[in-house]
Amino acid sequence: MNNPKSKKILRTIYSMQGVSRPCLLKISRYTPPTLYRIIDELMRDGYVVVSGTGEESGKGRPTDLLSLNGDLGQVAVLHISRTTFSCAVLDFSDRLLACRRHVIEPSLTPEQWVATVQADLATMCAQLGIAPTSLRGVGLAAVGPLDYKEGAMLGPLHFASPRWGRVSIKALAEQALGLPVLLDCNARAALMGHYRRDYYEKYRNLAYVTVGTGIGSGLILNRKLDSNSSVILDGLAHMIIDVDGRKCTCGEYGCLEAYVSTHAIVGQCVQAMRRGCFSSMGAYLDELHFSHVCQAAQEGDALAQEQLQQAATILAKGIVNYLRMVSLEAVILGGSLIEQLPAFFDTVCDLVSAKELGVALYKAQDEDASILHGIAGEVILQQL
Ligand SMILES: [Zn+2]
Repeated sequence: MNNPKSKKILRTIYSMQGVSRPCLLKISRYTPPTLYRIIDELMRDGYVVVSGTGEESGKGRPTDLLSLNGDLGQVAVLHISRTTFSCAVLDFSDRLLACRRHVIEPSLTPEQWVATVQADLATMCAQLGIAPTSLRGVGLAAVGPLDYKEGAMLGPLHFASPRWGRVSIKALAEQALGLPVLLDCNARAALMGHYRRDYYEKYRNLAYVTVGTGIGSGLILNRKLDSNSSVILDGLAHMIIDVDGRKCTCGEYGCLEAYVSTHAIVGQCVQAMRRGCFSSMGAYLDELHFSHVCQAAQEGDALAQEQLQQAATILAKGIVNYLRMVSLEAVILGGSLIEQLPAFFDTVCDLVSAKELGVALYKAQDEDASILHGIAGEVILQQL
């Protein structure tokens, strides 16, 4: 397809899946005759189908909802987190056709990972009646830090298998699957998944911040994912908030991630108890896990509550710093720390909102599913 206007409409329909003509008019700013002619051509050529019926906002009239034709093709997506890996097949209408998930055992090698996803993909394609060679591409979302230029994972902290140092996952997957692989980090993939599903119509500029074992972030500017492939360390995670501060895993001192992560919070609780601070978490002193901190906080433990409050305050400061540099309409917060602790999210929201920067804050839902849809979207949008 060579017409840039048709391409733009096709990409918007893919991004929104189930979008009405009035909504496309609003977003594209094309005149009705131009837009309707493009839609008619896209439907005639089999790119776009009516996928349902909605209600025209404000008028209550029924209206067609348009989506990409799922038969245009399928893509494979691979996802590596710190503790699990998965492999899935999605079609161009954003439907998840099949998915397999595995726990990362301490003995898992990169070669065993790629052999497993190769076998998974062959099984899923056979069940779906698709030839693996007909897949239109592969998206690979992985836990950072990543060297995007080299297509490599760089030994993530607290990864379930110690056998993964620097691993050229992109080349490994391309070799095994015989298809081009697009690599991105989990945070940016999650952002794409959330954005396309819930926020595309409402916002042009927004960020995603995931907080768990570490911090990851992604940015959408003018409805496009900002993919700075020359940066290895996440800019927000390693924003220095205290020049004389705690040592960070990156080698610097005082990075945001050294204060706001499940490991940082656990570490602070342990240190405080060793100094004599009383806490109900004392029973777990030598094997304290973040779930103990969450439980203790919910039961009113002062130390757990204080450490979580402190981490939420510091995260809010980091987000405010970020928002003063980049003009955004919304920030989505996700990750295990946000998902497990509603009070943590509420504190961050209150502190950021108090600065009156005019930014809406949202809590992410189902990060893993968003990652699969998001990385598939990155592959498909490249091809439209
Ligand atoms: Zn750092």
